Amino acid sequence: MISKKGLQKKDHQYLWHPFTQMQEWFADEPLIIERGEGNFLIDIDGKRYLDGVSSLWCNVHGHGRREIDGAIIAQLQRIAHSTLLGLSHPAAILLAERLVQIAPPGLAKVFYSDDGATAVEIALKMAFQYWQQKSSDRFRQKTKFLYFTGAYHGDTLGAVSVGGIDLFHSLYKPLLFEATPLPAPYVLAEKEAALEEVQRMIKIHHHEVAGLIMEPLIQGAAGILPYPSGFMRGVWELCRANEVLFIADEVATGFGRTGKMFACEHEEVLPDLLAVAKGLTGGYLPLAATLTTPEIFDAFLGPVDQKRTFFHGHTYTGNPLGCAAALASLEIFEKERVLERLQPKIAFLEAGLRRLRSLRHVGEIRQVGFMVGIELFDDVPSRRPYAVAKRMGHQVIREAREHGVIIRPLGDVIVLMPPLSVTEDEINLLLDAVYLAIKTVTEGHGSR
Ligand SMILES: *Cc1c(COP(=O)(O)O)cnc(C)c1O
Repeated sequence: MISKKGLQKKDHQYLWHPFTQMQEWFADEPLIIERGEGNFLIDIDGKRYLDGVSSLWCNVHGHGRREIDGAIIAQLQRIAHSTLLGLSHPAAILLAERLVQIAPPGLAKVFYSDDGATAVEIALKMAFQYWQQKSSDRFRQKTKFLYFTGAYHGDTLGAVSVGGIDLFHSLYKPLLFEATPLPAPYVLAEKEAALEEVQRMIKIHHHEVAGLIMEPLIQGAAGILPYPSGFMRGVWELCRANEVLFIADEVATGFGRTGKMFACEHEEVLPDLLAVAKGLTGGYLPLAATLTTPEIFDAFLGPVDQKRTFFHGHTYTGNPLGCAAALASLEIFEKERVLERLQPKIAFLEAGLRRLRSLRHVGEIRQVGFMVGIELFDDVPSRRPYAVAKRMGHQVIREAREHGVIIRPLGDVIVLMPPLSVTEDEINLLLDAVYLAIKTVTEGHGSR
């Protein structure tokens, strides 16, 4: 067995970590996670940490769930991978049926891929190609996309083209296709004014716009920023009225995260295209899907020589192990009435979060279901942020580890995103750790 020190050394020698300034990474000893058990991660020394961000927003029912492990093993004993290009397999078929059953009404076809970004790329390409293949010539100009400032849809170039986080996206501008940003309203903004601006832009651009993409209900990577209530519904209605396809990116919000299976359900929005990934397999394996309507699907039908085929596919599209895990995860949702049992836990989390308001540098606590953002300010009354170089969010999550909790910030927003399976005791552990970590780091008591 290689030692911890040996692994840490090889990490520094060989690995390049995502979204990580490696110079800063080298200054620290990497924490190496070896196992998972329920809602806990266990490091190579056997130390346990609550998985406070669901292993980057994807774990749903905890780690090592017997039913999901079993479904993957059973699938593995049959076959690990076969292709959906020219062939089919039971898990992909049955999962597609299941997804259509639980998705917002109107979505009837499932196209698989591997990650959130690919599910988004596929939705964009489908939307674009749909208008190119409609009967009337007046639709040929519909080639552009609308997106919101602050939006995050993944890191491949198509997804970045409709991304609105300057820190991640602006450098790549020369590589991107043209898309038009709309101002995303902040939660406290006035809904009507925000919608008027969207309406104005749609009126100007609708003849050249294929689709509008948005994260339903709440922007995740922007800093856990909910829209004003009813805003998503208003945007969707404007899209419907103006022949603009509505693309819902539920990669983060899907599978119970906001308290309903899909965030669109909160405002009875019926998307034309829906992208899902993160929680689809319960957070076990990389699998994603893009769902769409018969109306869009039918525009791709025709004799082969008309070239209306959707020319897209990834080698591991619809991987059987991933599909088996997803089916098992969805079965747990049903059998254990996960969404019903989640509601009191959401209320418990909300009540527990109130305690953090007494901290001097906690400016705002935003919550939708099991998505929480705690924003730190250097000066709360004036909302003055900390200097970036202070790495406040980073310091807080490092301190939280000392209290047995793994979390990850977005700048100076401390994100809490526990698995749906988290218990009330574990929520208390999470909140106690976060309280102490914020207090220690921002008020200077304690070791750091
Ligand atoms: C994480 C995320 C993505 C990207 O998913 P990957 O699997 O990381 O490619 C896309 N959209 C939203 C809203 C996300 O939160």
